[in-house]
Amino acid sequence: MTEVLVIGRDDGAEEAVGAALDSAEFDLFRVRTVTEAADLLHQRRFDAIVIDFDDASKGVGFDLAQLLGLFLFVPTVALVDRFAPEVATQLVQFGAQDTLVKSELGDRRLMVAINCAISRAHMAHFDTLTGLPNRALMFDRLNHAITQTRRYGNQLALLFIDLDRFKFVNDTMGHEAGDTVLKTVAGRIRGCLRESDTVARLGGDEFIALVSNLEQTVSAATVAAKIVEQVSEPVMVAGDAATVSPSIGIAMFPEDSESSDELIRLADAAMYQAKQTGGSNYQFYRPDMNGAALRRIGLGVALQQAIRRKEFELHYQPQVDLTNGDVVGLEALVRWRHPDRGLIPPDQFIPLAEELGLMNPLGDLILEAACTQIKKNWKASGQLALRVAVNLSAHQFDRDDLLDHIRTWIDRTGLDARALEVELTESSIMRDPESATSILSGLSEAGVRVTIDDFGTGYSSLAHLKRFPLDALKIDRSFVRDVITDANDSAIVRTVIALARHLGLHVVAEGVETEEQLEFLRANECQLAQGHYFSPPVPADEVPAVIARLEMRQAAPTPERMRAGA
Ligand code: C2E
Ligand code: CA
Ligand code: CA
Repeated sequence: MTEVLVIGRDDGAEEAVGAALDSAEFDLFRVRTVTEAADLLHQRRFDAIVIDFDDASKGVGFDLAQLLGLFLFVPTVALVDRFAPEVATQLVQFGAQDTLVKSELGDRRLMVAINCAISRAHMAHFDTLTGLPNRALMFDRLNHAITQTRRYGNQLALLFIDLDRFKFVNDTMGHEAGDTVLKTVAGRIRGCLRESDTVARLGGDEFIALVSNLEQTVSAATVAAKIVEQVSEPVMVAGDAATVSPSIGIAMFPEDSESSDELIRLADAAMYQAKQTGGSNYQFYRPDMNGAALRRIGLGVALQQAIRRKEFELHYQPQVDLTNGDVVGLEALVRWRHPDRGLIPPDQFIPLAEELGLMNPLGDLILEAACTQIKKNWKASGQLALRVAVNLSAHQFDRDDLLDHIRTWIDRTGLDARALEVELTESSIMRDPESATSILSGLSEAGVRVTIDDFGTGYSSLAHLKRFPLDALKIDRSFVRDVITDANDSAIVRTVIALARHLGLHVVAEGVETEEQLEFLRANECQLAQGHYFSPPVPADEVPAVIARLEMRQAAPTPERMRAGA
C-alpha cells in the first residue's frame, strides 16, 4: 500500500488525482494547505506527496524553496495547470521528482510518476550497498525524531557505531568480502532495533542508529549491548570467517544536547572513547570526553604543524648481548618536543598520525634523523659496530616506494646499510604476505636487517615466517613483564626462543626491568635483551656515556665473581 498525501484546495484537482489513483495500491490523504501538510508530516510519514503547485504557491506565505524544502525527503510530484519548462526545471531543483499537467493525469500517468518518484528518491536517499538510509536522510529522520521526542517528552538515543578491524578484513580478504561484511552488519544492527527506529550508514564502516521512545537510558544500553553481541559474531565469506566488532558511542536527547549536529558530534566523541578502551563495547557520552575529542582534534592540527617544523627527536635504547655483555645495537624511539607541553611519548601521537595519514611524512623525518645520527655522531666517536633499529608502522610498510625511500636515505647519508635495522610488527607483514616477501627481500638485498617487533601479540603463519628473509624476533614486553610470575608467559617466552632458534633467527627480549627476568632469559638462552634494567631510551648525546657505563658494569666483577675470587 502506497500512502499518498495530496495537498491543494482545488476540489477538481483532488477528484482528478482520486480518479487517476483509483486502485487498491494507493491510499490517499488530503490536506488543503502547506501549513497543515507540514504539521502532519511532523507526525507521520507518507510514501509520496502530490502537490497542486499553482494553488500551493498562491498566497500561502511560503516561497518556492521553503515549500519544497519541507518535503525534500518525501518523493514528490507537482501538479501544474499548464506546462512551462522553466517552472518544471525549478521544481526539480527544489526537490520535486516530476511535474505533471493536471488535465493529463489519466492513462496511469500519475501512477507511473509516483512510482518513479519513489524509486528515484530511494536511490538518492538510500545507500546502494546496504539499502539503509544515507547520511542526508539520516539527518532528516533525526530532526523528525527530535521533534517527536520533544512533543511527547520522551528520550531519544543516538548511537554512533564504528567497526573495529574492518580495514583489516578489507585489506586481507578483499573488497568483496568487505562488502559482504558491511551488508551483514547492516542487517544485524537493523535486527536489534524496532521497525520504527532508524539505522543509517554514514559511509565507510560507520553507522548511526536512532532509538526513539526511550523511557530510561537503561534501554539504550540494552540495545547497544545487543548490537555489540550480534555484530561481533563472525561473518562467513566464501568459507572463511571474518570477524569485526563495533565501537559504539551514545548521546541522549535532550539530556546531552538538543541539536542534531551536536548529538552526532558527542556520540562520535563517545565512540572514540569506546575505541580507546579496546573497542567492542559502548560508551555513553560524558562531558569530559568532549574535551578529549577536542584535544584530539587540536592535537591533529598541531601534529601537522610539528611535522612541518620538525619538532621530533629520537631517543635511543641500547640492546645488550647477554652472552658477553656487549652493547650491540640501539633502538631509535621517537618523541615529540611540543613547544608548550614538553616531551610527548609516541603512544600519544603515532596512532593519531596513522589515523590522519601523516605517518609517511613523519616516518621520513624519523628515518632521516636516524640515518644522519648514525653517520654523524657514533661513527665519529668510533662506535661503528652499533646498528640502529628504526620502527616502521604498518602504514609505512604499505607504501610502494618504501624500499627506494630507505635506499635514498642510506645513499644520501653515505651510511653502511648493515648499520640499519627496521622493526616491523607481525600484523603489518602478515596483512599481505606476498608483497611483504618482496619488500623484505629487497631490504635484505640492500643489507638492511629486519626484526619482527612485538612478537607473540599478532598471529603469524609459520609457513610465512620461514619464507621471509628475517634477522630477529623481538619478544613483546608484555610477556617479559610477568615471565617470573605467570606460567603462561614464561611458556610463551621459551617457545619464542625455541622458534627463533629453529628458524635460525636472533631473538631479542624487550622490557627487561629486573635481575630475575634477566636470569630467566639467560637460563633459556635468549641472546639479546633491552630494557630499563640496562637503560631507558636516552637522547643521542647521552648514548656514549650510557654505553660506557654498561661496558664498565660488564667489566667489573659481579658479587658472585668477587666471592669466588676471594
Ligand atoms: P615498541 O617498539 O615496542 O618500543 C618499546 C617501548 O618500550 C618503548 O616505548 C620503550 O621506551 C619502552 N621500554 C623499553 N624498555 C622498557 C622497560 O624496561 N619497561 C617498560 N615498561 N617499557 C620499556 P615508547 O618509546 O613509549 O614507544 C612506544 C611505541 O611507540 C613503540 O613500541 C613503537 O610501537 C612506537 N614507536 C616509537 N617510536 C617509533 C617510531 O619512530 N616510528 C614508529 N612507527 N613507531 C614508533
Ligand atoms: Ca620496537
Ligand atoms: Ca614492542
